[in-house]
Amino acid sequence: MMTSMESQRATEREQRLLRVPHDDVLQTLQRLDCQRSEQREASLKRRREQAPLPTPSPTQFKRQRLMSEVVQRQRASVDSLVQGYDARFHGKARASATRSWCKEVPLSLQVKAAKSFYEAFTNENTLPIAHCVLCYEKRMPCELTAVEWKYFLTPSVLQQATTVLQQCAACFPRHNAALVQVCRGCRTDVEDGRLPKACSVNNMDIGCEHRYPEELDDLSPVEERLIALHTPFGCITKFTVDNKTPSGMSYRKHVKGHIVVFPNKVEDLVATVLPHPLLQAIENIHISADSLILCPALS
Ligand SMILES: [Zn+2]
Ligand SMILES: [Zn+2]
Repeated sequence: MMTSMESQRATEREQRLLRVPHDDVLQTLQRLDCQRSEQREASLKRRREQAPLPTPSPTQFKRQRLMSEVVQRQRASVDSLVQGYDARFHGKARASATRSWCKEVPLSLQVKAAKSFYEAFTNENTLPIAHCVLCYEKRMPCELTAVEWKYFLTPSVLQQATTVLQQCAACFPRHNAALVQVCRGCRTDVEDGRLPKACSVNNMDIGCEHRYPEELDDLSPVEERLIALHTPFGCITKFTVDNKTPSGMSYRKHVKGHIVVFPNKVEDLVATVLPHPLLQAIENIHISADSLILCPALS
């Protein structure tokens, strides 16, 4: 009897428990969760307040200071950038409002600009019209330096190498403290006691321009070749330089084969070919004028 009553009560309890709505259960669980999280936060806060603040180590302190400096600099650079953009924008806005951007450039300014450009373009100091007395390369006067050549060429090697050049009194004046113009490369090499690279091939044996008479100044390249003591022959091909592979089989060279130099018989040429026979005939040609009619007459 008792057993049946207990089982009945248990069944009633179960039915009572099962009757609790689902939403109520969820709300209760949520409330419990909230309470638990609040309690956890409160305990953490209490612990944080009770615990003393950690003192930063010197390294951390230094790092923090550096970081703050970096941030300040970044902020300053961004500010200056923004200010620059703002100023540019305001300038353009002002030009747009006043329409100053479409004002005609005054004639005086045009003339001044053209004049300054012409002066800069024809400035003799920046034109390659001078030369180095050692390597004889064409240079701008501003690239050359005046040196006292008697002290400059003190090493015996250089003295020997420049013997031919030094024979010219026009290029290398004889008086003491005489100055000559040399390029930067030659100056550096000579100061280091070695022959300049630009002179290493000819070894300064060619000499200067003053060894040639003035009559040869106006000759064309073909005329110069015709009377040269030695005439070089070679084959020059059309080429493209491959900069990626500066050496190797695929690298093209602009000279094909050997350069052959033949001696030239200038004396025969001058004696038999020059002067042109017509020059002798010209001496015999006279022109006489008769009123309005001009006629050549042989004497
Ligand atoms: Zn030079
Ligand atoms: Zn000379």
